[in-house]
Amino acid sequence: MNPRKYGSSRLRSSYGSIVHGDVGGQGRVSPRRRNMQANRRRDTGPELALRSLLHAKGFRYRTDLRLELSGAKVRPDIVFTRWKVAVFVDGCFWHQCPLHGTNPKTNSSYWGPKLERNRQRDERNTAELVAHGWTVIRIWEHDEPLVGLEAVAAAIDEKRGR
Ligand SMILES: [Zn+2]
Repeated sequence: MNPRKYGSSRLRSSYGSIVHGDVGGQGRVSPRRRNMQANRRRDTGPELALRSLLHAKGFRYRTDLRLELSGAKVRPDIVFTRWKVAVFVDGCFWHQCPLHGTNPKTNSSYWGPKLERNRQRDERNTAELVAHGWTVIRIWEHDEPLVGLEAVAAAIDEKRGR
């Protein structure tokens, strides 16, 4: 499958897209401590739907991994360690999707900087992963699970082909 296909009109420009990095960096993988932080958004409906679909199609992945990179500790939603493919299912509000991510009118002095920090952290984490040879897939929670499945299949196919 050709990954460029996923930059189609179904997808937001920077989302549902694939970010490629150079192979060869070493991101050390360590099991995440079983300590649920308060603001952790885990096992949301859209993420579960994608995981179920991936599993049904025979993909095997990890979901409880914190990747310890040199510049950041990153915890993707779904991780394919063998292929170094990391998937994030981003919430529309927290990650400010172009369709549903409208800035809250009330308390905007509070939310504005908070959401901006989120955006910067997303960018930083993506860049950090790519620098360590990971392929990063980000999809929105409003995307159909099929979008994620296709992006994952394309990313793994590409790495397999190297
Ligand atoms: Zn959305």
